[in-house]
Amino acid sequence: MTTYWCEYAWLPDGLASGVRIEIERDEIRSVTPDSPRTENMLYGLVVPGFANAHSHAFHRALRGRTHHDRGTFWTWREKMYALAEKLDPDNYYSLARGVFAEMALAGYTCVGEFHYLHHPGGGKRHDPPHEMAHALVSAAEDAAIRLTLLDTCYLAGGFGRELDPVQERFSDGDVDAWAERVDSFEPETPQVVVGAAVHSVRAVPAEALGKVAEWAKGRPLHVHLSEQRAENEECLSHHGRTPTALLDEHGVLGEHTVAVHATHLTKDDIALLGRTGTGACFCPTTERDLGDGIGPARALADAGVRLSLGSDSHAIVDPWEEARALEMNERLGVERRGRFTVAELMGAANNYASIGWPQLGRLAPGAGADLVRVDLENINTAGIEPEAAVFAATAADVTDVMVAGRWSVRDGRHQNIRNPRAVLNREIGKLWQQS
Ligand SMILES: [Zn+2]
Repeated sequence: MTTYWCEYAWLPDGLASGVRIEIERDEIRSVTPDSPRTENMLYGLVVPGFANAHSHAFHRALRGRTHHDRGTFWTWREKMYALAEKLDPDNYYSLARGVFAEMALAGYTCVGEFHYLHHPGGGKRHDPPHEMAHALVSAAEDAAIRLTLLDTCYLAGGFGRELDPVQERFSDGDVDAWAERVDSFEPETPQVVVGAAVHSVRAVPAEALGKVAEWAKGRPLHVHLSEQRAENEECLSHHGRTPTALLDEHGVLGEHTVAVHATHLTKDDIALLGRTGTGACFCPTTERDLGDGIGPARALADAGVRLSLGSDSHAIVDPWEEARALEMNERLGVERRGRFTVAELMGAANNYASIGWPQLGRLAPGAGADLVRVDLENINTAGIEPEAAVFAATAADVTDVMVAGRWSVRDGRHQNIRNPRAVLNREIGKLWQQS
């Protein structure tokens, strides 16, 4: 048993001071506010680890290389495809290792990887067929971050459209082949959960949706939903209903399902997501980067939808920024402040249940021992009220991170990966040098 004393800690019922936390192996045993100091002192603010509920690790290589151009989500997507073509199990592992290390340094202790780079392309298969997934598992192990591998079904190039050649490597051919492949994937580590994803209603034909939902039963099931108005318009003209209604019709919605983005929804869509217990993952820094629009976060929360947050394209990797952006976007949209409480913002940032880890995300007895220490004496946090840290802190203020009872980051240094900056520089540089 190890005991820590936290100057401040974010507990399930809010901020507390002088908090003694007892940890045995990978679990929190007790949490006692207003305790006398002990030898292991954690100054500043200690919060539960952050859950990154939506990630495509390889998109990190697009940061600072697509952002100063004009264009739209769709022109950005072309560059993303060009990058995807260059990835194989070796360079994917090396890149993801740096990306996950950046997340670990920012305070994320688990990442939901929405994984669709399955095959080498041209109808070929890796041997074993899960080589790309194993690359992610190894990278996550190196970076000491828990992984939820959301194995993504991707079968079509649009409504009633064949795959583009560049999309072929995302596809197993049909939904049965997808299910068979996912069934045979068994990562041999307790730090990995396997779930499923429907890429979108654009990429999975309606007749295949039910099979994915059936396979996923009881596991996390994620789906990109209504990120772009064009998806809604095409879905309406092809199926006569919104993407949300289509997913519902085929049994995709439910309490283990998370709608990613959920940006352009009707009132009925919002009610339907609430009624079915579906969650919604917002990715505010990506959505603003791609010019997607502002999703109805408050309306969804009011309908009973549990919100989570993801860094998605990794234009920015900063859980604090994602959390406050939820509130800031609302302020811009409705011209009022205080749309979300701090507890709601922290709840979204700590929503591990959305990626299949319900035992994490809170500093409480019985919870997994994932925690993050934040410096309250940096230039940007000096003088703030600790309770309002979400409105001032950044990833750069995270000094220490514990995952499953072990420190993965100490004094701002990753414990396993000596120089994550060099890893990212090298791997991203190599990818863009290849023609
Ligand atoms: Zn995404």
